[in-house]
Amino acid sequence: CGSDLATLSGQSSLYLSPLVSTPFVPGHEVVGELLDDAGDVPAGTRVVLDPVLSCGPRGLSPCPQCAAGETSRCDHITVGDLAPGLQTGYCADTGGGWAHTMLAHRDQVQPVPAALSDEQAVLAEPLACAIHAARRARLGGGDHVLVVGAGTVGLLVLVALRALTAATKITVVAKHPRQRDLASELGATTVVSPDRAASALRRATRAFMLRPERGQPLLLGGADVAFECTGARPGLDMATRSVAAGGQVVLAGMPTAGADLAPVWLRELELTGAYASTGADDFATALELVSTADLGGFVGGIYPLARWRQALDHAFGAGSLGTLKVAFDPQRE
Ligand SMILES: [Zn+2]
Ligand SMILES: [Zn+2]
Repeated sequence: CGSDLATLSGQSSLYLSPLVSTPFVPGHEVVGELLDDAGDVPAGTRVVLDPVLSCGPRGLSPCPQCAAGETSRCDHITVGDLAPGLQTGYCADTGGGWAHTMLAHRDQVQPVPAALSDEQAVLAEPLACAIHAARRARLGGGDHVLVVGAGTVGLLVLVALRALTAATKITVVAKHPRQRDLASELGATTVVSPDRAASALRRATRAFMLRPERGQPLLLGGADVAFECTGARPGLDMATRSVAAGGQVVLAGMPTAGADLAPVWLRELELTGAYASTGADDFATALELVSTADLGGFVGGIYPLARWRQALDHAFGAGSLGTLKVAFDPQRE
């Protein structure tokens, strides 16, 4: 996941530092087999993991957020039976997916239907996050949606928008040729490269386009909702500059850098966070959608753990190599 790569390359916000415990084993997008019974789920069951380490996995009675079903907003991610850690893969006590074995709580595991391949199942977690992001948006029929970024997050947000919302026009900003092809196949109305995004959106929404003395063009008018799916500053600036006054920007990618908030102020935009997913419902929808959407080829490289250097090189270069996801298979030698 991009958040793993941001952690490894030192790009992650230090805001997150008290919410992890070291040393941790990375890996929060996991498909695996239970070695022990987990409550009512017997040993041997193939499962996917909801990585959020909320009150349940921590052996705590639910905080108000968890009690309301909003486990991704849990206030107790640093206390209870486990060391601090917002998720599995960032916690010293649980282990993580980049290993042969790890620990998981019953609340975190969802059985995988037999018809799904491991390559499909490993997309359940990122798809659950994308579904959560789509559900965080206020979308009406006829709305014009902008998706900034066409890596795994952007493309899965597109899949979720098409499956679950009434958005009709979806413009996807994609950097690399393979991403552009996939965005078209998965239902984007328009696919544009970053340098053409503002003018394409200007035409499509009959907005005015203006050029500041420095930085990206801005629109007066524009999309109703934008999903920021890169986590990088140019993507954030593009999203806030491309949404019409009173519109919404959903932060679906983990932001690794600041952005110019002037458009949020002037255009009275709503900035909406979308972190992880909220438990069983988003995962159930994800497991359903992963079997019907055509996501074959999303996992573009599978490596044994011993080849971690090649795996990480591949993942860091994924966009330009035409790859979306790189996975470890600890069973392989
Ligand atoms: Zn992730
Ligand atoms: Zn909680």
